[in-house]
Amino acid sequence: QLTLGVMGGGQLGRMFVHAAQAMGYFTAVLDPDPASPAGRVAHWHIQTGYEDEQGLAQLMQRCDAITTEFENVPAPALITLGAHRPVAPGAHAVAVAQDRIQEKAHFVASLPTSGIGPAPYAAIESEALLAAVPADLLPGILKTARLGYDGKGQIRVKDRAELAAAWDQLKRVPCVLEKMLPLKAECSVIVARGANGQAVSYPVQRNTHVDGILAVTEVYEGALPAALCDKARAATIAIAHQLQYVGVLCVEYFVIDDGSADGALVVNEMAPRPHNSGHYTQNACDVSQFEQQVRAMAGLPLREVRQHSPAIMLNILGDLWFPEGADKTARSPAWDRVLALPGTHLHLYGKLDARPGRKMGHLNITGTTVAEVKATATQAAAMLGLPALP
Ligand code: ATP
Ligand code: MG
Ligand code: MG
Repeated sequence: QLTLGVMGGGQLGRMFVHAAQAMGYFTAVLDPDPASPAGRVAHWHIQTGYEDEQGLAQLMQRCDAITTEFENVPAPALITLGAHRPVAPGAHAVAVAQDRIQEKAHFVASLPTSGIGPAPYAAIESEALLAAVPADLLPGILKTARLGYDGKGQIRVKDRAELAAAWDQLKRVPCVLEKMLPLKAECSVIVARGANGQAVSYPVQRNTHVDGILAVTEVYEGALPAALCDKARAATIAIAHQLQYVGVLCVEYFVIDDGSADGALVVNEMAPRPHNSGHYTQNACDVSQFEQQVRAMAGLPLREVRQHSPAIMLNILGDLWFPEGADKTARSPAWDRVLALPGTHLHLYGKLDARPGRKMGHLNITGTTVAEVKATATQAAAMLGLPALP
């Protein structure tokens, strides 16, 4: 009986564990938090830090292959693990994805002829580089090169004075300044790639963010122009191949207005793991992103994907437990009403305390037609007190 291990015990780890267990694997999770969502459902929960030698040794002893579920797993820990066990994705790929400067250079190298590149940007790692920023990058967004997520570690700046103040505010850590682009839409693509180089991609997800956090993902024919989707899928596969990536990778894109009917793609960032925008695959595709992660790390063939239903995913944040104005008065959202709607699939992560902005779960909505899925999503959003759909 094989055991699959995961570094990190958040909701992505939990859904990975569920997929692995459904296929008969034993599972082990390394996460220091005794209440971690994945640790509480795995066969073994190793409760140490990510760089703890004993913890890593235990994980290696238990496991036949190891994966990760969060972006900021220390690369040295993956190198240690990788010396003894198959680790997917590997330390190099994770290290590139952890650093926006390396990540953008990788995109440029992977997409030489596609016409797709990152937003115009400059690395800011010194006073001299700050002074040398070209004027046409302003107004822009200053982002820390490392450790940002859900829009944290980002400051929007109009001019040089604001840029200098923002870099101070970010403690002068290495950053990138990106030109602020007028977005028509945002989208992302999930790819799974095996150690043998086989790569499969999922349909393109159209994403809407609220306050820097993903709120809604829509995946159905017509959500985005078909030609744009083909380009995004091909680019994502090229990015995975160039990294020799093994596992599940998500790449985010912007669609910007370039005067053409479809708009143009700009590559934003990648996540070396399954992604929140790929959760619809659990109910709308014949193989989920988490099952592909299991297959990739276990050396099983990856499956070409068939999306059998149009889908909308609504993210469920901790805010729902705190009705407007009522401070810290927990109430449970109206699941009974929402689950009476056709085609609703609730996924909650088993987090013990709700906090505003915290990802608590998601609701997948499937149906036979796009109109039906949209109507159900609109009703569900209203019942839950979520913002109106895009
Ligand atoms: P994630 O939680 O997806 O990892 P993050 O904190 O790493 O997010 P980004 O994805 O880089 O941050 O940016 C967050 C959001 O800010 C984007 O989804 C987009 O809506 C907006 N944004 C980022 N960069 C730009 C840009 N150059 N021009 C316009 N909008 C941008
Ligand atoms: Mg990010
Ligand atoms: Mg992002």
